[in-house]
Order: sequence, then structure tokens, then C-alpha cells
Amino acid sequence: MFEITEVQAREILDSRGNPTIEVEIFAGEYMGRASVPSGASTGKREAVELRDGDERFHGKGVRKAIENIERHIAPRLIGMDVLQQRKIDLMLIALDGTPNKSKLGANATLGVSLAAARLASYLLEMPLYKYLGGTNAHVLPVPFMNVINGGAHAGNELSIQEHMIAPVGAENVREAIRMGSEVYHQLKSVLKKKYGPNAINVGDEGGFAPPMKDIEEPFEAITQAIDEMGYSDRVKIAIDSAASGFYSDGRYTVQGKEMSAGELMDIYEELVNKYPIILLEDPFAEDDWNAFMDITSKLGKRIEIVGDDIFVTNPELIRQGIEKKAANAALIKLNQIGTVTETIEAVTVAQRAGWKTLVSHRSGETADDFIADFAVAMNTGQIKSGAPCRVDRVEKYNQLMRIEEELKETAEYGY
Ligand code: PEP
Ligand code: MG
Repeated sequence: MFEITEVQAREILDSRGNPTIEVEIFAGEYMGRASVPSGASTGKREAVELRDGDERFHGKGVRKAIENIERHIAPRLIGMDVLQQRKIDLMLIALDGTPNKSKLGANATLGVSLAAARLASYLLEMPLYKYLGGTNAHVLPVPFMNVINGGAHAGNELSIQEHMIAPVGAENVREAIRMGSEVYHQLKSVLKKKYGPNAINVGDEGGFAPPMKDIEEPFEAITQAIDEMGYSDRVKIAIDSAASGFYSDGRYTVQGKEMSAGELMDIYEELVNKYPIILLEDPFAEDDWNAFMDITSKLGKRIEIVGDDIFVTNPELIRQGIEKKAANAALIKLNQIGTVTETIEAVTVAQRAGWKTLVSHRSGETADDFIADFAVAMNTGQIKSGAPCRVDRVEKYNQLMRIEEELKETAEYGY
């Protein structure tokens, strides 16, 4: 047993310059530290991110959540065994007592939950992926790199939020990351030539945010960059539409044009037929379950249909999605649900049904690389952490290369 002796929390800045929480948990002289990410295109059923709403930081301060850690969580946590992650998380869930962590804040509970896991791994002198996943943790995930940003993550006119490249045909994660970086830089010169110097400014996730008008333009530029590198057999394309962001009253507004779910469905079919697209995330809005069911029955045998805002890493919503065949994969974001234990449950529910899972960063990130270890721990085979650019994004990819080195010949790459 390793008794927790002290808990500290503070406000730090995230990659967008907004405040977020950093937590330190101590067992004697040992300390585990973690910080909490923050989304921009958030699902409405996500666990609550507690913000102060006062004059500091335009209302985004997290002092209340920190006070909840110091005054309510710490007294319960001190004296607990840090190796009992599930017990710690169940305590956090019970102490909060709401279905969506609205009392303590999911940012408060997650900071504590992550820091506890990290401290436990230090105390056992075990890598985090092995502590969380055990001896079978060995799959290095395919990195889905967001190279063209739109939607809520950029100041351009693109409706689709993320245009990603996935080096599925790489031999290992180190090669995948090199190929991703090479395509990213090739894309930079493609964009510069075609759209001028403003086209290479980047969005929240480090991908380019070019002034494009037509929905196909990003895919033209990306396939050109992939082809020019000679990677057309090995690097594929994925989309996160984040369609809740351009949905209102049953209609979708895509590139300035209003349309029905059926018309948007036709656009996706055309895109999938024309470009090497292997995955569509949030093709429709979080409340449009019928459209999700429709696209899964039409395209679900050929490609991955991933639910993000629709399931919000909630095991119960994923179960409903499985029952209704509303997707064939779930996005996994720790801060959508608020504890490590519940996130593991979400992954397990999906995997048991034969679904894929895609572990994800948030558009507001810190240098914390927890999700890299988490993806290996759960053998998800897939991760997205933005472009191969900016420390908040690449630190996750760099950690995957460290893990691969450590696992040596026991590492496996891919799905
Ligand atoms: C996403 O929608 O998958 C995403 C990473 O964006 P955000 O963090 O803004 O929700
Ligand atoms: Mg998403």
C-alpha cells in the first residue's frame, strides 16, 4: 500500500492560452502530476467542465474546480492507497453524486484521477501504459494527424473541422510519424504554391487553415501531397466533420449551403468514392441518430464511422449506439467522462462489441502525454493528437516512439 499524503492543484495555461487545472498527488516524497485538456466543439452530454464565470480570464478561470479539489476531494483522498485507481475513481464519482460531474467539475475529477494513475506507475517503477494495461499492452496506435483545420478550430471558411492523414501502411509508429511529418511539410508547399503565404497559417491543432471555399479542396491538396511523397498506398485520409457545429433545426449548413441529412449523406458517399477515406467521425449532429444509423448501414462495411459528440465517451451512450448500430467505432476522450476508470469502461464496452476505438486529444491541450500511454494500455490501435507540429500535439506522438523503443520486438503497430 502507498498512502496518499498530499494533494495540490493549480491554474496553468493550455495551448489556446486559457486556464486549466494541473494536479499533483504525493505519497511521501513521490509525486504524480497531470493536467486537463479542454474542447472547443464540445458535445452537449459531456461531463461538465467547471469554469468560474467571473471577470478573470474572460470567465474561464478554474479556481472553483481547484477549490473543490482542495476542500472536498483532498480530505477524502489523503490516506487512500494510490494503487487502488478504481476505488479512487469510485470515490470521486460518489462524492460528486451527479450524472455529469456538475458538482465537483469533470476537470477537477479528471486531474485527480490522472495524477493518481501517474503516481502509482512511478511508485511501482512501471511505465504508465503497463500500469494501466498490464502485460498485454503492446499495440502502438496508427496516428491520425489533423493536417487541415476548419470548423471551430480555425478562422477559415471550411465547415469540416478536421482533415486527417493516417499512415496505416507504415511498419511501425516511428515510421508512421516520419511519414506524417513528411506529408505535412509537402502539404505546406502544395498549399503555399496554390493559395499563397496566408494558407500556411495553422489552427488550434497545428494543421494548416487555408482560405478554401469548396469542400473538396482540402482532399485535393492532401492527396496531392501524399502522391508527391509516393505514399498513396500507405497513407490514407480521415475526416472529423464535428457536424453538431453546423447543424440547426434539422438542417446542415455546409460551405454556406443549407441541406438535409440525406443531401449531406450523398456528399460523404461521393467523397468516400473519390478519395482514399477510411474513417468518418461525427458525420452528423449529436442528436441526429437516424442519420448515424443510415450512414453506418450504407458505409459501415467499407469504412469506420466514429461517434464523438453523440457518445461523449459515456459507456451508457456507447451501449445504446451498439444496440442501434449508430456507428462502428467510438471516440475516446478522458475529459468527456471525467475519470480513468469510466474511460476504461467506455473502451471495454466498445471493444466487446467488436467496435474500434480512437483515443483523442482535445483542441485545447497541455504538454501532458497521458493519452499516448492510455492508447497503448488499451490496445486501441488508433490515436489522434492533431498535426505533427506544435509541442502540445507532438509530445503525444513522441511518447509513442519512446514506448515503441521500450517494447522492442514485442511491439505491434496498427489496428
Ligand atoms: C474533436 O471534435 O474530436 C476535437 C478533438 O475537438 P474538441 O476538442 O474541440 O472537441
Ligand atoms: Mg470530434
